[in-house]
Amino acid sequence: MKNQNNQKSGMNCPRCSFKIKFQIQDLLAKNSINCPGCLLKMDMNVPNEIKSHLQEIQMAQDMVTKARNVNM
Ligand SMILES: [Zn+2]
Repeated sequence: MKNQNNQKSGMNCPRCSFKIKFQIQDLLAKNSINCPGCLLKMDMNVPNEIKSHLQEIQMAQDMVTKARNVNM
């Protein structure tokens, strides 16, 4: 349970337990996630207020990534 705070977005498929990785952009754009393991489609109806929040998180992550690239 120690890896819960992993930075990568992901979840385990409820059907086949495949570790599904997805980008927040995908979630915002498609409102659904497909499991690469069993092709289960999961609808993710993200409320608008959560969406704007996710977009802020994504922007922050982008800035961190850019800053990290500059420092390297
Ligand atoms: Zn699956």
